[in-house]
Amino acid sequence: MSTQTRSPSFRKALTGRSVGIRPPWSSEATIKSDCTSCSRCIDSCPEAILKPGPANTPVVDFSAGACTFCKACAEACPEPVFSSTDACPWTLAAQISDGCMLSIGIGCQLCTDVCDQSALRLDLRVRPVGRIAINQDACTGCGACLPLCPTDAITLGDYAHEG
Ligand code: SF4
Ligand code: SF4
Repeated sequence: MSTQTRSPSFRKALTGRSVGIRPPWSSEATIKSDCTSCSRCIDSCPEAILKPGPANTPVVDFSAGACTFCKACAEACPEPVFSSTDACPWTLAAQISDGCMLSIGIGCQLCTDVCDQSALRLDLRVRPVGRIAINQDACTGCGACLPLCPTDAITLGDYAHEG
């Protein structure tokens, strides 16, 4: 995983959510109503991708790594902030903009190579160098692809996953 750091403006651009992405199985509403800023979720994350956000409440920093959905954050929280981990962790999926290198004719497959879900695929039917096709239903929103994109063309956005 890249250790490349990203600016605050990049993080805001991830979803357009002004405070950033909340941990899986949590929501802005439950963070606001029940989070005591105790940091147990942040301290428990083995990937170290949870950071203190507004009022020291947790936000995800994908520049530090990807979410493995290990559930450690949800299990560490003593308050009713996290919903059942049997459910879908969040409504996030990758989106790609025209800033992709392929859009200007430069070959690149960094994101397809890292995606364990095969949610990103190089569609070679699009000339001259192909285009990244995203299967948003297969995408878990893990964020592994985000820091690898040299042009910040991939973002995570809300998506209603099937099933
Ligand atoms: S599910 Fe695991 S990897 Fe993902 S944010 Fe929670 S503790 Fe970190
Ligand atoms: S967010 Fe994760 S699952 Fe989705 S396309 Fe990127 S690497 Fe694949």
